[in-house]
Amino acid sequence: MRIEKKILICGAGIAGPACAYWLHKYGYSVVVVEKAQTFRDGGQNVDIKGAGQQVIKMMGLAEAIEAKDTLERGQKYLDAAGAVIAVFPKGAVGTLTSDFEILRGDFARVLFEATKGDCEYRFGTSVTNLDDSGAGMSVTFDDGRAEDFELVICGEGMSSSTRAKVLAQETRFRYLGAYMAFFKIPRRPEDDNWAYSVNGVGGTFITLRPGNEKETTVLITFLRKDHDIEGDNSAARRDLLLKALKGRGTVADRITAELDMVQDFYFGPMSQVRASAWSKGRFVLIGDAAYCPTPFTGAGTALALVGAYVLAGEIARGESYAEAFAAYERLVRPYVEASQDQLSPRFIRLLHAKTWFGISVTHLAQKFFSSGGVQKVLRPSAAKREKGVAEDFVFPQY
Ligand SMILES: Cc1cc2nc3c(=O)[nH]c(=O)nc-3n(C[C@H](O)[C@H](O)[C@H](O)COP(=O)(O)OP(=O)(O)OC[C@H]3O[C@@H](n4cnc5c(N)ncnc54)[C@H](O)[C@@H]3O)c2cc1C
Repeated sequence: MRIEKKILICGAGIAGPACAYWLHKYGYSVVVVEKAQTFRDGGQNVDIKGAGQQVIKMMGLAEAIEAKDTLERGQKYLDAAGAVIAVFPKGAVGTLTSDFEILRGDFARVLFEATKGDCEYRFGTSVTNLDDSGAGMSVTFDDGRAEDFELVICGEGMSSSTRAKVLAQETRFRYLGAYMAFFKIPRRPEDDNWAYSVNGVGGTFITLRPGNEKETTVLITFLRKDHDIEGDNSAARRDLLLKALKGRGTVADRITAELDMVQDFYFGPMSQVRASAWSKGRFVLIGDAAYCPTPFTGAGTALALVGAYVLAGEIARGESYAEAFAAYERLVRPYVEASQDQLSPRFIRLLHAKTWFGISVTHLAQKFFSSGGVQKVLRPSAAKREKGVAEDFVFPQY
């Protein structure tokens, strides 16, 4: 597609810079605006799964990512006293650990470094108004500056404010009946390179994962019927978290003792973004802004990477933006929906046993599925595994 003006990308997370990479490769001029004042390197462990790994390889970034791998060896389930119930090494069916394990901030930095020389990044900037004139997109920024762009690509994550200006009616949030908190605590000498997960009564699920040499990362999810904690009420969040941790065993006690020192803290509802349309006119969504599957799936990065690759490729080969956006949605939507449909409120309740009896049954299931015999039956052959990754998403060539 021949383009006269620049393309604007909103959001310098994962999807935005990945899309900027491909658009620059196809010869377009790209401006990326990010509302944070500086590059955001927050976040805990992200898994780069299936087709996402292929995009990383096509971008030539596999080595840079591997250099930052957290080296997680697999996942162990513990009981409340800290005794090991079941072990799922990396590669086992059902383990949390994928082939590429990296802290979100490290991953975002690899993408930023790969694009900052070729694309224009403007930090501390966001969109206040968009006007689709037919011939282009007139955009006003919060510093008062107005500028024309050929297209606007919105990769602002789950709570995107620019999406709300254009596709509010089309966007729906699906609450899965739980809240999530992520943060880091100081690493201890006994923290090795395993992820440790423990079920707590009342429907709490806690996982500790290797972070960097100084920090261990924490992921806590807990059942909550209603999505009723809005905004930035840090006292309410803290109280809820303390309640979810109280009396939940040794791992929970350690986290409670460290909670006051936590700086980089994410807390929010476990919700998916489901948009009935991903574009309107010259405006199009990518990544979590369009199809957040929730960080609980570990699939958000793969969806963002695949979406960025396809959107940029379709813009390059399409006759018009309308054709390109339609092809992007047609190709990526089934992949997104397959990933999002893996989670339901019912499945989340199943993973978060509430009673001691439920937890005992969960432990039995964890033991059963981790046993050598069951893993042998469940584990696809090497050939099928190769094929599985390849078929996760069938990549168009651009
Ligand atoms: C700080 C942070 C920590 C995270 N931690 C985890 C984690 O620990 N585990 C996990 O699985 N996932 C985490 N995620 C989500 C994960 O990055 C995404 O699920 C996934 O990688 C898809 O990326 P994305 O680029 O679509 O969205 P995001 O990574 O959320 O990036 C969106 C970017 O847009 C920016 N932005 C938002 N609004 C505007 C605006 N109005 N104008 C301009 N810019 C805007 C944000 O500051 C952010 O940099 C985190 C996201 C962020 C932003």
